[in-house]
Amino acid sequence: MSVLDLARAEIRALQPYSSARMEASGGQLLLNANESAWAPTGDNGTGCNRYPQPQPPALVDVLARLYGMRREQLLVGRGSDEAIDLLVRAFCRAGRDAILIQPPTFGMYAVSARIQDAGVFEVPLRRDFTLDVDAVLASVTDAVKLVFVCTPNNPAGSVVPRADIERLARALDRRALLVVDEAYVEFADEGSVADLLDTFDNLAVLRTLSKAWALAGARIGCLLAHPEVIGLLRRIMPPYPLPLPCVDAALLALSGWGQANARAHIDVVRGERARMRAALARLPGVRGVLPSQANFLTVRFDDADAAYRCLSEAGIVVRDVRRYPGLGDALRITLGTPADNAQVLAVLASSEGVANGAAFLKSPAMDGRGFAGGSA
Ligand code: PMP
Repeated sequence: MSVLDLARAEIRALQPYSSARMEASGGQLLLNANESAWAPTGDNGTGCNRYPQPQPPALVDVLARLYGMRREQLLVGRGSDEAIDLLVRAFCRAGRDAILIQPPTFGMYAVSARIQDAGVFEVPLRRDFTLDVDAVLASVTDAVKLVFVCTPNNPAGSVVPRADIERLARALDRRALLVVDEAYVEFADEGSVADLLDTFDNLAVLRTLSKAWALAGARIGCLLAHPEVIGLLRRIMPPYPLPLPCVDAALLALSGWGQANARAHIDVVRGERARMRAALARLPGVRGVLPSQANFLTVRFDDADAAYRCLSEAGIVVRDVRRYPGLGDALRITLGTPADNAQVLAVLASSEGVANGAAFLKSPAMDGRGFAGGSA
């Protein structure tokens, strides 16, 4: 049995579109794709009058090296959002199959599943935002084709130990594809589990250039997976997914200079994360700050409404995550530059509304167990 037996039969049988650039991309004179022979604003050298390569070899090479993969184990797409969507469409039959997620978690897994009319099974994280492997495995029925695990978790910031990923992958062998979303792994103490791809053909790993690589606007993300899975997804991907300027931006960001720059900023974020966690936890009105291995802190407030309002009145926009299970009192604050973070602290420290929430709401039942202590 191959991992592709888990995928939709009609996708396996699909005759994919064959793009002009896929059929032939070498040659002196390209007259096979109905492109314009002229650059849009004179000869500015961008090459944008030509369709791009579907998977530009230079970018695939540099990403394969970065992630320690072989080229055929890697699919580059428009953000990891696109990879999530492709996976759901390739593996889940509408009205019959399902994905499994562990709330609180990144919202796009469920949205992609619902667009496809696939079911969404939920096995919540434990109260301390750790993954309950036994509960996940007990909930995997024949309908479940994809199990998404987000580590570091968005929005909780917690991580799933490598041993748990191994256990899940082994137990799901021949049953489901385990998709580990490592969007924030560059900020974490523990590294990627992508090396386990050589052991488990039912494992897939999502990576992105949107966070640590500072390229959210270029929309570049990757799926690392068994070559058969990569080949299958390439068949359903639109013909020319990666705009040339975005590919160029990614190549620059991944150059030697770009990598040094990114690594320096990752160090700053990690330092700020520790400093801000401690400083926020000391503020009146803050119940607790979740430990985070990502580039954000999720903060529990006595009065999250007041905190959100006072930050937004100061022009600071944070993410309200109160709709997520277990986070009914929390806001997620992305770590910015040290100056940005100082501004967040100053606004929260000077807000009477936030501090009054503390005086009004603080009670022994709200001790934020497991978190850096709040002000009480
Ligand atoms: N996974 C997680 C956990 C995320 O938080 C995000 C973006 N917020 C994504 C994937 C999507 O990232 P991309 O920009 O690569 O589409």
